[in-house]
Amino acid sequence: MVIDLRSDTVTRPTSSMRDAMGSAELGDDVFGDDPTVTRLEELAAGMLGKEAGMFVPSGTQSNLCALLTHCGRGDEYLVGQTAHAYLFEGGGGAVLGSVQPQPLEQEADGTLDFEKLAALVKPDDFHYARSRLLCLENTTWGKVLPLEYLETVRPFAEKYGLSLHLDGARIFNAAVVSGVPASKVAAPFDSVSLCLSKGLGAPVGSVLVASEDFIKEGKRFRKMLGGGMRQSGLLAAAGIYALENHVERLAEDHANARTLAEGLAEIPGVTVDPVQTNMVFVDVCGDTIHLAERMEASGVLMAGYTGKKIRLVTHLDISAKNIEKVLCEFREALS
Ligand SMILES: *Cc1c(COP(=O)(O)O)cnc(C)c1O
Repeated sequence: MVIDLRSDTVTRPTSSMRDAMGSAELGDDVFGDDPTVTRLEELAAGMLGKEAGMFVPSGTQSNLCALLTHCGRGDEYLVGQTAHAYLFEGGGGAVLGSVQPQPLEQEADGTLDFEKLAALVKPDDFHYARSRLLCLENTTWGKVLPLEYLETVRPFAEKYGLSLHLDGARIFNAAVVSGVPASKVAAPFDSVSLCLSKGLGAPVGSVLVASEDFIKEGKRFRKMLGGGMRQSGLLAAAGIYALENHVERLAEDHANARTLAEGLAEIPGVTVDPVQTNMVFVDVCGDTIHLAERMEASGVLMAGYTGKKIRLVTHLDISAKNIEKVLCEFREALS
């Protein structure tokens, strides 16, 4: 059996989740007729403390719909240099919305520094794009934005006239680690995107949550981008199951990641970044490609990242026993 640590997107729906999908009540959601999609949207919005939600096929489309709703042509958004919504979404805001990104380096803890941000906000002058939106990511590269930091986000944004979007693909990992409801992590933001298809274990889908008015406008962009789906309650049912059953258990993924990190750190020549959630970044100071091939031959898949570090991600389909085996294989491969 293959142990797949490349990403938390690789999970397969559990049999209970498949049962929930199989018995979902369906309708045409473009007509607003799918009761299961509506229930998912209300559930997600409620959990994140927002008025309304919109089910979309992917996190990329969710962020893009948010970006297009917040920003118009000639506007810009401030965003982390290695944030998904800047680096890994094909430049969608620029291509499809004429929205200019203003990226900046994140701090070591994953936050964006307010002084650096303030210096990047453009004055009201026709030479510049209009600074419209600040986009944060939580968790970001496995790191959880501190609650004290989140409390200062809204006052900053108000001072500079920015609206706030959170790429909360893994917001529930952040909430579980911080020991607070996800609504508290979401509170400062006007819009929040969450992924059902990561650690929560659903096969497909994200939900964008915000005010009623924002989601009404967001649905226009979803349709434009080809994200209006029909009997999508089949997929939404998996999302409901995930939100009702797979949130608390994220703590197990975090514990497995810690065990993995501790075991790896004991191997000579291996350096491991501090672990907060379900991602372990490992520097083996050697040939990672060769190592990845060796590990693959023994049934362990992992992602070489940025050419230097290896990324190992725990999830629903990884058990504590799997972690033991992974550590054995690493010790052997690196000995
Ligand atoms: C995965 C991910 C997304 C995008 O989700 P897709 O469903 O893969 O398009 C957005 N942001 C972050 C932080 C992610 O990890």
